[in-house]
Amino acid sequence: MIVKKREIPLRILIDEALLRRLPLNHPKRTEITQDLLIRRAGFKGEQDMDYYLSLLDDSEFYILQNIRLPLGNNHFQIDFLLLSITFILLIENKNMPGYIEFDADFNQVIRRNNGKTEIYDDPVLQVKRQLIQLAHWLKLNHFTIPPLEFLVTYSNQGSILQNPTKNEEIYKRVCKGGAAVMKIEEFKNRNTKEIFSQKDIKRLVKFLIKSHEPEGSHLNKFSLSSADFVLGVACPSCSRLYMERISGSWHCANCGTSSSDAHVQTIMDYFLIGNPSITNKQLRLLLKLPSDKTASRLLLNTKLPFSGTTKNRVYFPK
Ligand SMILES: [Zn+2]
Repeated sequence: MIVKKREIPLRILIDEALLRRLPLNHPKRTEITQDLLIRRAGFKGEQDMDYYLSLLDDSEFYILQNIRLPLGNNHFQIDFLLLSITFILLIENKNMPGYIEFDADFNQVIRRNNGKTEIYDDPVLQVKRQLIQLAHWLKLNHFTIPPLEFLVTYSNQGSILQNPTKNEEIYKRVCKGGAAVMKIEEFKNRNTKEIFSQKDIKRLVKFLIKSHEPEGSHLNKFSLSSADFVLGVACPSCSRLYMERISGSWHCANCGTSSSDAHVQTIMDYFLIGNPSITNKQLRLLLKLPSDKTASRLLLNTKLPFSGTTKNRVYFPK
């Protein structure tokens, strides 16, 4: 059963907010768009993988989707963590169409797609690193270390996997999404000794969920400043910042869409692009509102946490 669901990564929300807020000719747009496409593909691939894992016997595994755990000064992240009473399985998923060739001698993956050749790090090595980190994490937190299995899955139907050096480990540890269930059967047959009692495994699952720390902001990476951003309310249909407040609702001067709550996304964007809080005055500038009464009402309706008295109130993201 799924005991921890993945959340939409903050970094996807930030990229989307940046693209709504940066002028169309801003030089950083290409880099941010590229970053967003990669992150969205990864997220979509994991969602596709959910289907294949739903074919497993629901009572046998506790499934944690996208778990990120602290270890020393760092974190490690696992796409899928499956726990049973006899073993733990780590799955690293890739969403990559094209010819995927494993070069086990040099720990690299060569991908050929649409006439383009790209080199990637070996995902087997990547998931092995996660395995070592998980073992370390279990030990530090005084849990028994059960047999740890790992798998690299390619959830995209258009991935054509190739293993030209006929490397044994690649055959054993890499598969298409649809073959994962069969691989997991093999792991089950290999690991039959009960390591955890039901009570132990529940305690471990609970502790894993409690220890999860979602990935934070990556705004620094793009070195943007508030001067880069455009003010105004973003249209929910065309994303342009052309919405005007006319008799109590928002109207887009570009595409004609009306909205009663378009300002909510705009306030979210304001926080996502790095502002820790907002005041009435800042909101009026952001939404291009002439009246501070309207600004106050809109802020109250968003039910954001705040501090300070009516006049000097500062609002924070939820
Ligand atoms: Zn519009």
